Amino acid sequence: MSAQTVPIIPIPSAPQASSTASSSVEEATSTPTVPEIGFLNPLIFQGDTLVADVSSTGVFPVNASLDGRSLSVFKYQDSYRIVGAIGATEKIGPHSLAVSFSDGSSVNEQVYVRATKFSLVDLGVPEKLGQTADELVQNLAVEQSALDSIVALKTNLAFSSGFRLPLADASHIAAPFGEIRKTGDQEIRHLGIDFSASKGTEVYAINNGTVREAEDDPIYGNMVAIDHGAGIFSLYMHLDQIKAKVGQTVKAGQILGTVGDTGYATGPHLHLSIKIGAISVDPVKFIDIFR
Ligand SMILES: [Zn+2]
Repeated sequence: MSAQTVPIIPIPSAPQASSTASSSVEEATSTPTVPEIGFLNPLIFQGDTLVADVSSTGVFPVNASLDGRSLSVFKYQDSYRIVGAIGATEKIGPHSLAVSFSDGSSVNEQVYVRATKFSLVDLGVPEKLGQTADELVQNLAVEQSALDSIVALKTNLAFSSGFRLPLADASHIAAPFGEIRKTGDQEIRHLGIDFSASKGTEVYAINNGTVREAEDDPIYGNMVAIDHGAGIFSLYMHLDQIKAKVGQTVKAGQILGTVGDTGYATGPHLHLSIKIGAISVDPVKFIDIFR
């Protein structure tokens, strides 16, 4: 899908700002500038990243939430940006986006989440790891919870321009985001994208950030986690070599390692995950829309 920078409201409701400031009578006499929320997404699907820019004079957004879940709000280039993950299992239908502003006013918009048709594949049993399907799911949960504390961080924004792809040639997608993989009686959701690439291919940071993890995990293999600030993280898995250290700051395009097949991988590929507020989104769609 193309990501045009057009301020289209996700559902055809009137983009009418209902000020919920406390003393509306006096304020009605002055003519406050109603901040305009411009969505970069023409439509929002499960697995998407909601991206909206707020341009107004003087008044800026301080908080945004979707159904009460806090979203990221930060100054970006010439405006303020609201970024929120729409998870792969997000409820289909209308959601409530609430934005509060520096002058005490707030705006509510309805965001309609559409269904993504995720593919279902048979993963078989994880022979390479010598694990049963149940053990794989259990071990995956352990690795995921170890990551949870890292990706819950919300640090200062580390970048000032859009994201790039992690490979020079990222056109070969071996497994899409959100794919449901059956293994034994279990189902595992693929919360990243697998790019096909030969072993040793350079892997690049998709934007500036700080390395929060660079280690060998039984399932993820050699993996690097980059904190881009504002709760946005990128994870690079199954690397052959790691060329980054925890605590190191990296620039967009900097080499983090090389493509490999470490951990639970049947062949060389790069698994890229992007998490926002600890929720995984489709990395290619994120990179496409985050200009
Ligand atoms: Zn993968």
